Amino acid sequence: MTTPTDARLMAGTDLARDIVTAAAARAADLTAGTGVRPCLATVLVGDDPASQTYVRMKRNRSAQAGIDSRHVPLPAGIDTAELVRRIGELSADPAVHGILLQHPVPAGIDERAAFEAIDPAKDVDGVTMHSFGAMAFGRPGFASCTPGGILRLLEAYEVPLAGRRAVVIGRSPILGRPVGMLLLARDATVTYCHSRTTGLPGLVRDADIVVAAVGRPRFVAGDWVKPGAAVVDAGYHPGGVGDVDFAAARERAGLITPVPGGVGPMTIAVLLEQTVAAAEAQVSGRPGAVGAG
Ligand code: NAP
Repeated sequence: MTTPTDARLMAGTDLARDIVTAAAARAADLTAGTGVRPCLATVLVGDDPASQTYVRMKRNRSAQAGIDSRHVPLPAGIDTAELVRRIGELSADPAVHGILLQHPVPAGIDERAAFEAIDPAKDVDGVTMHSFGAMAFGRPGFASCTPGGILRLLEAYEVPLAGRRAVVIGRSPILGRPVGMLLLARDATVTYCHSRTTGLPGLVRDADIVVAAVGRPRFVAGDWVKPGAAVVDAGYHPGGVGDVDFAAARERAGLITPVPGGVGPMTIAVLLEQTVAAAEAQVSGRPGAVGAG
């Protein structure tokens, strides 16, 4: 039940639909003009059910947008060298425009080494150190998809960033770290929080923008939220629960992402958009010219 003080929702589902529609139109133009259909290779190591679901969703959404996908399922027992070799083959294959290695890979595999086998021109999930560096320096390159999607949401809802205090809870390479970089690039004053941070509730109470990327259900309490703040919940847990206590936070926030229907759909939308951009750049012979985030 809503009250007049409840926050406005940042509807990722709606914005993601617009982004995918535009990406599909670009994919159709590319195919009509050159005969080339964008192709995303999806690499899944092992049989984790959640990862299987995520990859299936990404492939289904690709198909709906006119993007082919080439699925590469690999056994959980594969070693790092063989995984690197398989990803290297995809990097060298001109029929593949984008490569997604589903995170996380099974324990025992050097995930960083596997990510680095992705050609930066095909790094449509924005996971390589090259992409991270380009993003941090504001140079052309692919954004990490979830952080890129979060920034698109904040921009679509005209959340002021320049000079505002942003608190990012979490510093993982695929989420917390890059989202903080993107906020910094928009002139926010960014505080990174993590498992060793002390006084977290007080830091959050000071924040105009909060990004929760903790991986703990309902971790951010409602009374931590500064009245009027923009709250982005990147978390996803079974039952549609995020990293923020949504019901309580909504009573204080100005804007808030729902779970589901907030950040999640934006991640896939940015992935598809970047896959089309990668295909366009490779077909035109300008693979270094892509820019996103
Ligand atoms: P992760 O790699 O486990 O990182 C979690 C981060 O939270 C770490 O930096 C950790 O700090 C920090 N943390 C843990 N406990 C904390 C505490 N008590 N206080 C403050 N910080 C704490 O997780 P992730 O991959 O970034 O994912 C985070 C969440 O986002 C998960 O719920 C995941 O399901 C979700 N996710 C969603 C999408 C999407 O598309 N919507 C995509 C990716 C992830 P340390 O660095 O000190 O350990």
